[in-house]
Amino acid sequence: AQMSKAPIQKYADYVSSMFVPAVVLLALLTWVKSIIFDKTGTLTEGHPMVTSVRVFGDINGSEFLKLVASAEAGSEHPLAKAVVAHAAATLSGCEDAEEVKQYAKWNFTDISWLFPAKEFKSLAGRGVCAVVDSKEVLIGNRQLMWDNKIEVCQVAQTFLREVENSASTGILVAADKQLVGAIGISDPLKPEAVEVIWELQRMGIHCMMVTGDNRQTAECIAKAGKVEAIKALQARGDVVAMVGDGVNDSPALVAADVGMAIGVGTDIAVEAADCVLMRNSLEDVITAIDLSRQTFRRIR
Ligand code: ADP
Ligand code: MG
Repeated sequence: AQMSKAPIQKYADYVSSMFVPAVVLLALLTWVKSIIFDKTGTLTEGHPMVTSVRVFGDINGSEFLKLVASAEAGSEHPLAKAVVAHAAATLSGCEDAEEVKQYAKWNFTDISWLFPAKEFKSLAGRGVCAVVDSKEVLIGNRQLMWDNKIEVCQVAQTFLREVENSASTGILVAADKQLVGAIGISDPLKPEAVEVIWELQRMGIHCMMVTGDNRQTAECIAKAGKVEAIKALQARGDVVAMVGDGVNDSPALVAADVGMAIGVGTDIAVEAADCVLMRNSLEDVITAIDLSRQTFRRIR
């Protein structure tokens, strides 16, 4: 059969177009000084579970869950999935913890039991807002409430502190500018997380975690906090890698010298990242750096 030259040429172009970025990537990985880890879904399992629900004012429990789930149904955030799963389980009368866990891993396609949400917006590092059941619903952290001048009462403050002291995340819910409830969500660390951080530190790499999660961070980290943290390290001369799952951290994956998307990463994460760790294991961060170091030792 006659072979046309075109595909070969195309292949050569493809290889050379991939080669330079690949070598640059390997070099950058060899020189990486600091690694910034996103928290939710990256250092943690990313399958958080609702552990407590507190309602303020005169809204009843199931009404509250339906309202919250309707607004969160549009979000890809693991916290949102936990809330929708919890609402689905509770409203359908399921109480068994293991069964609720299955709900949480489910991807909800049937959302007919929810109110339709209008004007849904995802607010990076803060939460979500939407118009649900003709109420303006805001769900997220203290910073989100602060931004919208919503008063967080003492009872809610105490609830948040209790939740955070058990290493969980507390989120607040407001409807029409009034705080109506709070939810505690727990997301355990990945089993390999601690070992991997120790090993990276032994390799001389400075490890940090960024999150929009707790009070200190929420207060001082602006909307683009993850990006700013990266730029500050780059300004002092570090080659910076960012490891994230792409939920709310795509700009950070782009800003880093090496953006590493991990695991379940969304399409956006794959586009924003320089490399994608296909398994959901943090050990692959070490593998990637080891591989690049070995490759470079051979080239030299
Ligand atoms: P991280 O991945 O480090 O938790 P994110 O930027 O994804 O950081 O989120 C920061 C914080 O913003 C969360 O801890 C939560 O308080 C709030 N948040 C973000 N998305 C949502 C959401 N869909 N529902 C409720 N709260 C959210
Ligand atoms: Mg995240």
